[in-house]
Amino acid sequence: MVSSVKGTFDLFYPEIEKWLIIEENARRIFNLFGYTEIRTPILEHTELFVRSVGSETDIVSKEMYTFLDKKGRSLTLRPENTAPVMRSVIEHKLYDSSKHNRLYYIGPQFRYERPQKGRYRQFHQIGLELLNDKTPYAEFEGIFIAKELLNSLGIGQIKVKLNSVGCPECRPHYVEVLKKYLLENESKLCSDCQKRIMSNTLRVLDCKVPSCQEIIENAPAISGNLCASCEDHFAKLQEYLEEADLSYELNTRLVRGLDYYVKNVFEITSSLLGAQDAVVGGGRYDGLLKSLGGPDIPSFGWALGVERLSLIAEIKKEAKNNVYLAWLGENEFKYALKIASVLRANKIPAVIDGEARSLKNALKKADKLGANFVVIIGEDEVKSGLLTVKNLKSGEQFAVAVENLPAFILNGDKS
Ligand SMILES: [Zn+2]
Ligand SMILES: [Zn+2]
Repeated sequence: MVSSVKGTFDLFYPEIEKWLIIEENARRIFNLFGYTEIRTPILEHTELFVRSVGSETDIVSKEMYTFLDKKGRSLTLRPENTAPVMRSVIEHKLYDSSKHNRLYYIGPQFRYERPQKGRYRQFHQIGLELLNDKTPYAEFEGIFIAKELLNSLGIGQIKVKLNSVGCPECRPHYVEVLKKYLLENESKLCSDCQKRIMSNTLRVLDCKVPSCQEIIENAPAISGNLCASCEDHFAKLQEYLEEADLSYELNTRLVRGLDYYVKNVFEITSSLLGAQDAVVGGGRYDGLLKSLGGPDIPSFGWALGVERLSLIAEIKKEAKNNVYLAWLGENEFKYALKIASVLRANKIPAVIDGEARSLKNALKKADKLGANFVVIIGEDEVKSGLLTVKNLKSGEQFAVAVENLPAFILNGDKS
């Protein structure tokens, strides 16, 4: 037997139902805010991620599925979807049309990480990108939509965490201040952080190793080192959130994993997830489009992991009225096929098999399928046009005229 690849999984009923509801809610809510879907290829040129995500990040340096194709080109299975969307926006000049300023995506991403609960090598993200809005309203709208989606899925114990990571004007100075402090405390940091001091200084603030915590806690915060523009941008977002009664907390250690963020970044966590509690993460990346060869257009976006979301989503599925058709002889089979079509035309799921079964076996089959009703079709039923309908939940049995069957299944209406 050939098994699935480590870190990947198959998705099927009933778990898939949860995923469909998550995706449905996301599409509905994105649509309400004027977003349209974009689907980009899973394969991209490796260079795209090196240039956007950053060669010093864990994603690019350790976690990408990169290979040479038959012509020796370096290709990568996308590890995230923002860079591909931006590539597409530039390639098709989507930035020219305000119709394409609000985009969302749903799809698989790939990272070579150690698989653990809720974390896979093929994982799935839902995300949005908002282009051409340099105001803090962009961040507000994005966070608001994320919160709406989480609420629609009954996700509890949510916290919105905010930070500003500065801009090209003020961040270099802060990075120097932080670097100096970290170098003074180098010996107390874990070996990863010691390497990060020079290559990816801000990421040290993100370290989860216990021995690094004390150093991080006493590190100079970026909040005191922002330029006036970043400070104002950050304050406005907080104003909007307060106005909307959307509670948040500030977290000066929130830096996000990717190089391209500027100004406001955010994360939404749920303590239901335990230690690795992030559900949604995102921020502003004004320079990204330009760095990929596009025009200088501001952008903001976030992504969420569907696997983790599905672990904590409280989804109540409505029981559907579905029917199993039990037929007893060859003549009745053809009649039953017609009845099945009538039911489906009335949006009632109907299952029928090609193999004759005894009544007892048909009832067993219906039960295994989780059907709500069995319609029994024997010689008498065909002759009289009165079908025997058994409600499998209550055990009650009814005689229902053919023309009344859909109404009866949908709302118990016999006449
Ligand atoms: Zn700044
Ligand atoms: Zn560390």
